[in-house]
Amino acid sequence: MEIQVDPEICISCGTCIDICPEVYDWDDSGKAHSQVDDVPSNLESCAREGLESCPVDAIKEA
Ligand code: SF4
Repeated sequence: MEIQVDPEICISCGTCIDICPEVYDWDDSGKAHSQVDDVPSNLESCAREGLESCPVDAIKEA
């Protein structure tokens, strides 16, 4: 499972990072990004929860 955050859409609310800090983190421009290239299976459910909780649908599963 790969996660992609569209920085053009992200409004930097922090929800995904609050929910799943093992996967999501801030990038240098203050937007969320995935800090893992390939989400380990034990983190997939929290990564999905973060994805589904994004208020602007900026996160996609690649
Ligand atoms: S939940 Fe969505 S809008 Fe909020 S920081 Fe994460 S990617 Fe950005």
